[in-house]
Amino acid sequence: MRASADALRRLVSAMVRAGGSADGEAALVAEHLVAANLAGHDSHGVGMMPSYVRHLKAALLVPNTKAKVVKDDGPALMFDGGRGYGRSVAGESIGAGIARCRQLGVAVVTLANAHHVGRVGAYGELTQAAKLVSLHFVNVTDHRALVAPFRGTDARFVTNPVCIALPATDRQPPILLDMATSAIAMGKVRVAKNEGHPVDPGVLIDQHGVPTRDPNVMYAEKTGALLPFGGHKGYGLAVVTELLATTLSGGPSIQPGNPRLGGIINNMLSILIDPARFAGVDWFRHEVDGFVDFVKASPPADPKAPVLVPGDPERLARETRMREGIEVDATTWGEILDAADTVGLGRAKAATLAEGGSTR
Ligand code: NAD
Repeated sequence: MRASADALRRLVSAMVRAGGSADGEAALVAEHLVAANLAGHDSHGVGMMPSYVRHLKAALLVPNTKAKVVKDDGPALMFDGGRGYGRSVAGESIGAGIARCRQLGVAVVTLANAHHVGRVGAYGELTQAAKLVSLHFVNVTDHRALVAPFRGTDARFVTNPVCIALPATDRQPPILLDMATSAIAMGKVRVAKNEGHPVDPGVLIDQHGVPTRDPNVMYAEKTGALLPFGGHKGYGLAVVTELLATTLSGGPSIQPGNPRLGGIINNMLSILIDPARFAGVDWFRHEVDGFVDFVKASPPADPKAPVLVPGDPERLARETRMREGIEVDATTWGEILDAADTVGLGRAKAATLAEGGSTR
């Protein structure tokens, strides 16, 4: 199934509205999920809707929830997301952080108990648009563990993403490092399973701790586990991400002492910095422009694959997918239609919307 970004936005927006959200929230969630598809991250795109609908039905995702201020103390801003749509409550908390960072030069924002915030790069893009630098550390809980510790044989935490964002200069587009600390995101295992292809070597172990390329091990009764990226280094980053996202925010880590209800909770620590208040904007541009040019001038090992910087692959994917549309595999599409039915929109109406038909 191939659909335009506009048609998928209309479909997701209608599903979120059918789940009880106001129009603004529905449009925001739709924009966010489709933007992940456009960026090439189908793992965090419209294929999340079946999980969102499941969580709505179980009251583990609460529509129309506003981020609640827990503390407002100079550069420190603490929010509770109350299981609201992640894009909505994280967008509000980052918006407040941007305003505070403009006043003070730095802001440290915590968000506890949000439902899935999705592609974390979206929040880096908000700070980039405000010409700020930002760092985001996110843990994932309320969910079964998916990732094994380095030297371990079973899953003990989830895919704990990290995002670091630098704004554009006049010459260089923004740099956006946005990645799971697992070798690949769980959504990419789902995509591999749905499309029926193996994952790369070094990414998964089975239920006995033995390396495998079969994505189905993550869906067996006794599951296998993803591995952290980069051995002990990725594992170390995953550990500190879990702890940074939770110890400062008041949100729960995945340790068994905290409740786990089977939804998705993201807690996020965000650090915002205004470069104008440090070495200044001219120096920032001088270093970004000169360094990126220097790195990209490295002769490519494969002439068809030039050196990139973080953020480039997503820009390239966006250009292609805006032009050619977004491919949704048959299994994911079937799951989305089922979810549309469950949430009361209906399969026929959902299919019409995805074909570009009218909204209501
Ligand atoms: P990935 O493995 O595709 O890595 C993405 C990062 O690597 C990007 O910054 C990209 O620009 C950079 N990159 C890729 N190829 C590059 C190259 N050749 N040169 C330079 N940089 C390059 O992404 P992932 O780890 O699968 O994560 C996908 C998405 O999943 C992210 O948006 C992440 O925020 C999201 N995620 C969210 C959650 C959550 O709970 N909300 C959990 C895990 C992941």
